[in-house]
Amino acid sequence: MENKKDIRALSREQLRDFFVGQQDKPFRGNQVYDWLWAKGAHTFDEMSNLSKETRALLQTNFVINHIKVDEMQRSGDGTIKNAIKLHDGLVVESVLIPTQKRTTACVSSQVGCSLNCSFCATARLKKMRNLNPDEIYDQVLAIDQQSRHYFHHPLSNIVFMGMGEPLLNYENVLLAIEKITSSEGMGMSPSRITLSTVGLPKMIRKLADDGVKFKLAVSLHSAIDEVRTSMMPVNASSNLAELLESLQYWYRATKRQITFEYVVWKDINDKQKDIDALVYYCKRVPSKVNLIEYNAIEEDGFEQASPESIQKYVSALESNNITVKIRRSRGKDIDAACGQLANKTVPA
Ligand code: SAH
Repeated sequence: MENKKDIRALSREQLRDFFVGQQDKPFRGNQVYDWLWAKGAHTFDEMSNLSKETRALLQTNFVINHIKVDEMQRSGDGTIKNAIKLHDGLVVESVLIPTQKRTTACVSSQVGCSLNCSFCATARLKKMRNLNPDEIYDQVLAIDQQSRHYFHHPLSNIVFMGMGEPLLNYENVLLAIEKITSSEGMGMSPSRITLSTVGLPKMIRKLADDGVKFKLAVSLHSAIDEVRTSMMPVNASSNLAELLESLQYWYRATKRQITFEYVVWKDINDKQKDIDALVYYCKRVPSKVNLIEYNAIEEDGFEQASPESIQKYVSALESNNITVKIRRSRGKDIDAACGQLANKTVPA
């Protein structure tokens, strides 16, 4: 068993200190840092402005635990799903979603998920660990490279809507976003990043207190406690009223409206009372609604509501001046759509 250190767990200062400790210049640390993050080097050998001796020194002391794109599937609509192998053999999935003008990376924050939403395929995976900041960063970098290669422009947006609950891996997700947005990393504007959460009030308040600059989306699916709890067990411990208070707190601090993600299911939330509850909820905090298409997963008993029921939602929201969009699924044919990420490409 190797016990070399993961070099990307070191801060710029720690890297500079390492070189000073080796009777070298602190500047060497900056060079290495730049290779690791801005240039996304996978090996020490790529670091061409370092001497052979320096590269050998790094090789003796450290490893670069880079993720590996293990398998890539392309959908008929251009969507690319990647099975990403981590250094310990576990696998997560990341998706590139192209549209006419942009490409969006949908990235994972955890291996598996602990929340057990009954309509989501990821919930069926048992194994769970948090991803490190560099494992999150690497997914974005890999998709940026794919975007340049296949669509001839850089990645334009990032959504944390892959596997896992980002707010249960709070620190690492924020560290990754810091790298993604910093000029030392990818220099991407935080306004192009959306974090999607099941809605954890304490953590939403913390985001507001920490002054984050990215956007927030909440998977609502129902504005009636009983209905929401029946699909999303997390709602039993923090109900809709608490969630709303945290969202109002977020809005006061950030002045950024919230996006509610919402699937309409037959016989579950397709009645007038469900629509009324959503309208009432949305009126209490600046927000808009994305009605997302349901992506069936095996034997879960859920069925997408009729187009008429969905249209009723649209009309009710619009007549109350709440912005609503219907989001068509992408990458369904390769199980890359929302809620379908479950490592089907690899044996369990
Ligand atoms: N844990 C985070 C992010 C991952 S899920 C969250 O809950 O927001 C990304 C989005 O896909 C969420 O809005 C989730 O509710 C939705 N989703 C899950 N399963 C789905 C399915 N089978 N069909 C459509 N959307 C689904």
